[in-house]
Amino acid sequence: MFITSLLPAPLHAQPIPDWLDHYREPANKLIAEALSDQTAWRRLALLTDMFGHRLSGSPQLNNAARWAAEEMKRDGLENVRLEKVMVPHWVRGRESGEVIEPARHTMVMLGLGDSVGTPPDGVQADVLVVRNFADLESRAMQIRGRIVLFNAPFTNYEDSRPYRSNGPSRAARYGAVAVLVRSVGPPGLRLAHTGALQYASDAPRIPAAAISTEDADRLQRMADRGSRIIVKLLMEAHVEPDVESANVVGELRGRERPDEYVVVGGHLDSWDVGAGASDDGGGCVVTWEALRLMKKLGLRPRRTVRVVLWVNEENGGRGGVAYRDAHRAELKGHVLMLESDTGVFQPTGFGFSGTDRARDTIRAVATLLRGVGADQVGPNGGGSDIDPSVREAGVPAMSTEVSGDYFLIHHTQADTVDKIDPVDVAKNAAAIAVMAFVVADMPQRLGE
Ligand SMILES: [Zn+2]
Repeated sequence: MFITSLLPAPLHAQPIPDWLDHYREPANKLIAEALSDQTAWRRLALLTDMFGHRLSGSPQLNNAARWAAEEMKRDGLENVRLEKVMVPHWVRGRESGEVIEPARHTMVMLGLGDSVGTPPDGVQADVLVVRNFADLESRAMQIRGRIVLFNAPFTNYEDSRPYRSNGPSRAARYGAVAVLVRSVGPPGLRLAHTGALQYASDAPRIPAAAISTEDADRLQRMADRGSRIIVKLLMEAHVEPDVESANVVGELRGRERPDEYVVVGGHLDSWDVGAGASDDGGGCVVTWEALRLMKKLGLRPRRTVRVVLWVNEENGGRGGVAYRDAHRAELKGHVLMLESDTGVFQPTGFGFSGTDRARDTIRAVATLLRGVGADQVGPNGGGSDIDPSVREAGVPAMSTEVSGDYFLIHHTQADTVDKIDPVDVAKNAAAIAVMAFVVADMPQRLGE
């Protein structure tokens, strides 16, 4: 019994449809089973301890994919398979960043994903510190031959990410020889945050790296004093030929309408630092766990529930595109797609994109999740892996929403399982299981 379900409904609540009553009991069973032990967290620990980080093209990613498929079979999931995807293979190699003047100082840095390397002897040059893109434009005449540091304080991911993704090419157009970017994340304990850059086709490709916020602040103070700053950057980064990899797929076939699908998943690839626990081993484990819980409790929904552990979200998005292309014929049967890629901290609910009618239904289903705190439905749902399919077929899209500080350890050496609370993982699994089960089982198709 969940005490919170006895509280009066909030005033803004929608009327609850009669058919939802039928789902109170299975929902409470799914929640109780999820919270009864630490199965999901232990699986996340196993994944990240046994295989470590899982960059596209790495053997550990493919080993993890094969392991996941075997484990899904042991859980009793159906149609478990690896769906082939050719992925890019960027290799970091050794790297370092050192301040040479005004005083020698080793910076905490990480080369940006897909960056080119430096010549074998490195790049050594004067540093120009800019605060933002407008600052860059206004100092265009001072850039040639220099290393540019973009030192824009982190506000939110959407607004801060362009310095990482586009900054290198924007500086290269004015003749910069390399770029440093203040890490895209809140100040932590001197952590560098990697992540992909995107070279523009009309700019020279120059090496680029993220440095910790503390190191960025240090260079800023030097620049503000008018000191001459010289940095030496050394990076072996390079691209090797594409490698065969796979999306991992498992199902619980629907008992009445098997050709209609609720798809849930996270991405199995990660950056090559830390252990890819929060981004996105956790999203993989909790969506997979949703199917395991249904299977264990003998809850077979009317429609098929499919879990997909996507590949190559971080530096290419090839898994999401390959899924769309391979499943084009059945996309019209996709009732809902959910991606968990915002961390598995305390869940607060879901982001949802779809029709108003579908949203009303999702809001009603979410009321079953008050007990785990996951009953809010926000305005925007989606994810980079489901996006190609969602766009092609207009599939209602959902993401999980959580209250933790996802960006503190995002793309860093600190992305390890010890940051993640087993109870939070169980709550995420419970929330996804209930949402996926009800939408897959309810009499009417979502939105009808
Ligand atoms: Zn991610």
